[in-house]
Amino acid sequence: MYDVNSKRADDFINHEEILDTLKYADENKENGALIDSLIEKAKLRKGLSHREASVLLACEIEEKNQEIFRLAEQIKKDFYGNRIVMFAPLYLSNYCINGCTYCPYHMKNKHIARKKLTQEEIRREVIALQDMGHKRLALEAGEDPVHNTMEYYLECINTIYGIKHKNGAIRRVNINIAATTVDHYRLLKEAGIGTYILFQETYHKESYLTLHPTGPKHDYNYHTEAMDRAMEGGIDDVGLGVLFGLDKYRYEFAGLLMHAEHLEAAFGVGPHTISVPRLKRADDIDPGQFDNGIDDDIFAKLVACIRISVPYTGMIISTRENQTTRERVLHLGISQISGGSRTSVGGYYEPEPEDKKSEQFDVSDTRSLDEVVRWLMQMDYIPSFCTACYREGRTGDRFMSLCKSGQIQNCCHPNALMTLKEYLMDYASPETKAIGDKLIEKEVLNVPNEKARSIVLENLRLIEQDNRRDFRF
Ligand code: SF4
Ligand code: SF4
Repeated sequence: MYDVNSKRADDFINHEEILDTLKYADENKENGALIDSLIEKAKLRKGLSHREASVLLACEIEEKNQEIFRLAEQIKKDFYGNRIVMFAPLYLSNYCINGCTYCPYHMKNKHIARKKLTQEEIRREVIALQDMGHKRLALEAGEDPVHNTMEYYLECINTIYGIKHKNGAIRRVNINIAATTVDHYRLLKEAGIGTYILFQETYHKESYLTLHPTGPKHDYNYHTEAMDRAMEGGIDDVGLGVLFGLDKYRYEFAGLLMHAEHLEAAFGVGPHTISVPRLKRADDIDPGQFDNGIDDDIFAKLVACIRISVPYTGMIISTRENQTTRERVLHLGISQISGGSRTSVGGYYEPEPEDKKSEQFDVSDTRSLDEVVRWLMQMDYIPSFCTACYREGRTGDRFMSLCKSGQIQNCCHPNALMTLKEYLMDYASPETKAIGDKLIEKEVLNVPNEKARSIVLENLRLIEQDNRRDFRF
């Protein structure tokens, strides 16, 4: 039976409840009065339930859909301004004992090169990432209890935080690894990770069991209850996501929101981020084998509906998507993007040889970080390299209450400008720097508090003239 508070996956992601939700959404997809009332409710910026949001996702009235898009855009502006936080993935190891049918790292794939970075290789990769200008990483690894142990992850995190090359530093390490135990989550927390990310892939249990035929990941309940264990282990920033294309997108959407509602109900804090990856071509994987792919229009609607349903949750899009798609959804709700990414194990320090490729998926946006930063600024976005919250202890419910009161804005905007300035001084091409300096000059006037503005101006001067770094609010 559906129970948002239950710790059992089958209760908080209840199949019957999702089917009822989809039926309700279908029955009401042309119910103008209900849709209007839901849009009005969403305007209060307190979010929507999975049932309410599913009606809006199903809505087939064009004019109402346009309203949904406009509202998503407005909420994005109100909560995140024109800032986009930058990050990069770092693949540690692609050894994996699972059989996920949509991922080239599945155990039966014998022709992909298997690699695991040594600490020395990690140093080289991280220096290359620092030299691009990155400050925030998402670590990625397959599941393999022999190769990819918790001790290995802890050592990697320690190595990464310890590397100080020129003015570079990785200031926030997020991690995306297999579901594990409360004790292991506690160790990750103690090692100083930011967000623990784990994609559900699909909330549809039957599909999940088919798509994960072998390996520990086959255990749907253990996987689905991972965020509960992470929170019990003290990790209060968790990142959800589904791989759109595996099952019906409306089912996944309802499941995703039910998961967010469950975390909020059980722990008082919803997900820190939601990622929206779509299935892509990769070694041994043809997306055509999966018949639930979604087109760009549906993808945009999904992003908009997530944005208005969980306004306080950051939304992430990776280089799986090309420039055009990224451009289309940025203003609808995306708050974090990756840039200059490699999805192989190694590859930042030097390109992989053709016969030893280890990529998880084909990157669609292949531009360098400098190009991505310039592109964002040309559209009037502020690329932000801020990592302040986690370092100031603003995580979990503390972070959420600042978000909900709107106070976080007083930190985000100045921090974006100061970290962008660091980037421009240390890593940008002359063309990017010229655009960025103009943008900062204009945007600093938008820091509303006079005292804060003068601090930012002084810090910008110190960054430029005294080579000082790492200011934050
Ligand atoms: S999705 Fe993750 S668990 Fe599955 S095969 Fe790929 S790396 Fe392994
Ligand atoms: S101040 Fe906090 S919420 Fe704002 S961009 Fe920085 S880390 Fe993110």
